Amino acid sequence: MKSGYINFYTTGLDACSPNKNWYERGLVDCLCPECKILFPRVGAIDVFIQEKRPKPSPITFVIGSVNIVHRDFLNILGADSVENDLMIGSVINGDGENLKDWASVRSKVMLHIRGTENIRNNGRCSTCYRPYVSATGKKYIYPDTNSPGTIFSTLFGALLVRADRIDGQLFKPKKGFGVAFVPVLDQPFDGLDFRIECWQGGGPSGIKSGWLD
Ligand SMILES: [Zn+2]
Repeated sequence: MKSGYINFYTTGLDACSPNKNWYERGLVDCLCPECKILFPRVGAIDVFIQEKRPKPSPITFVIGSVNIVHRDFLNILGADSVENDLMIGSVINGDGENLKDWASVRSKVMLHIRGTENIRNNGRCSTCYRPYVSATGKKYIYPDTNSPGTIFSTLFGALLVRADRIDGQLFKPKKGFGVAFVPVLDQPFDGLDFRIECWQGGGPSGIKSGWLD
């Protein structure tokens, strides 16, 4: 099989809204003010949303680097991979209720889906200089990660699962939920000359290390 990932992603505008107090006070030291990506030292994070429940799609996001995933969907991905690869937090709704069937999810290694064009200048945030890719056109991964993991999160409500470790036929796109194969290519086509792979919490040294390129 061609090397690649199954991309599970949210479609449409169904992101959750962050609780204002949580966002303005609790996250003040945790994320870059420009790109809104959590700093690498931040591990699992409990997420406070304004809504009563997330929209029906099994995956959405609240801030660009924090996905919210339905636990039924996580279970299908495999308990071992979920435990090894992901940092899991709670989702608390606008009434202060802990939504037991939802989880906040960040992978220990974040990948970026690249395209034929990148609409964010040089692919880096101008404040924290970390990779911040917003790709258009044909999607791909370049280069592949050396991480032995199976599940990886990416920005804006997407999870990538190694295609050779999951039966993609089990998953059908539906309203608000997309499923697509994303190949690993042996060269990039977006003019970005760096290796895009971001170690988040629990990096290879066992501490929260910075991003690599
Ligand atoms: Zn930034």
